[in-house]
Amino acid sequence: MLFKLKIVYHWLCIKWRGSFSDRTALEQHQQKHLDAFANEVLTKSRFYAPYRVNGKFLWESLPQITKAEFMENFDAINTCGIKKEEAMKLALESEKSRDFKSEINGITVGLSTGTSGKRGLFLVSENERAKWTALVLSRVIRPQLFRKQKIAFFLRANSNLYASVQSALFEFHYFDIFKPIETLLSELNAFKPDVVAAQPSVLMDIAAEMKSKKVQISPKQIISFAEVLHESDKAFLFSTFAVPIGEVYQCTEGFLGYSCKFGTMHLNEDFIKVDKEWIEQDKFYPIITDFSRSSQPVVKYKLNDILQVKESPCPCGTSLIGIEKILGRDDDVLIFGHTKIYPDLIARRIALVCDEFSNYSIIQTGAKALEVQIDCGQNDFETLSKNFDQAIIELLNEFVITGVKLNYKHQVMRNPGSKHRKIMRSTWE
Ligand SMILES: [Zn+2]
Repeated sequence: MLFKLKIVYHWLCIKWRGSFSDRTALEQHQQKHLDAFANEVLTKSRFYAPYRVNGKFLWESLPQITKAEFMENFDAINTCGIKKEEAMKLALESEKSRDFKSEINGITVGLSTGTSGKRGLFLVSENERAKWTALVLSRVIRPQLFRKQKIAFFLRANSNLYASVQSALFEFHYFDIFKPIETLLSELNAFKPDVVAAQPSVLMDIAAEMKSKKVQISPKQIISFAEVLHESDKAFLFSTFAVPIGEVYQCTEGFLGYSCKFGTMHLNEDFIKVDKEWIEQDKFYPIITDFSRSSQPVVKYKLNDILQVKESPCPCGTSLIGIEKILGRDDDVLIFGHTKIYPDLIARRIALVCDEFSNYSIIQTGAKALEVQIDCGQNDFETLSKNFDQAIIELLNEFVITGVKLNYKHQVMRNPGSKHRKIMRSTWE
């Protein structure tokens, strides 16, 4: 019961604060919470405590870190005295047994594999879980009056983080994406969800089965997370489900953003300070400091996602920064000499020639080589590959890139349960 009360408490705090229509008020809020975070949390971290000089943390002197450094310094960074070795052992055991109640001294331990396939460990306390849940409930899930909302959540691991909310208002059902898709679909049919939350590749599978009438559900809301949702897939999902497709920007490091009712992705700057490392005029790598965390501080942590800023203000009126697009991960960008082609651009060009078809992967396998994997199903492979050829060559020509070899494969390589990357660069260098 205490846990539910905590959720209600945090939910009320978020509602009471409102949506920060004033940027100055938002920045004051950030500063106040950053100071409290430094004094109450960073002082307990062996890694960060030495940066306190004369009772004050000098933010400028705190190091910027990457995922690799974060994992390397796991023991010193976390404030719970948890050792990486011990946490990893526990997380791997629960991953194998598919029993996800792994805790050390009341702290949930979770394992994540990012799209890079590198393993990460995360620690979450009960209070942090309550905060996370309150934020999801207040920002993402649209409430319905007088009806319990059934939420189908497709995940690779059922961490306590996600499975904790059952109440009079919500019923969560976890779908293990390591199970065969047929099993998942029949479970989904039986559950009849109001909300379906999954990564885009899983949503696309469900949508395809909806079209062939193998799945008959009528959700009121679709939520996409964990992979980049390309415009063409979003349009296909919308045409299938005929309901809003919400986007959540969530990674191991936290719940970073959500799409408002006008479809703009806003970063949760009332919980996270976002510094920007600019790549181009409107594109940046986010460097995040999550001042809502306590068990495992995330400070000046550089993500390798590339975000594009939305230039015009969003009609919803919030001063939380708007993101035009998540352009994909750094290693999803194709590189030819000094020229970069962003994954989103390629996906849009393919969508133009291939209509609703989307089951493909384009992988840069060499300095001048692309492998195009196509799962053509009922479609004709010859015609599809010709269309792909046309779209890709046209795009390369526009960038004055010549001599690129395209190698076509009849099948999309996908590991069950892993994140699907439509466009990526393999490490041949
Ligand atoms: Zn908005």
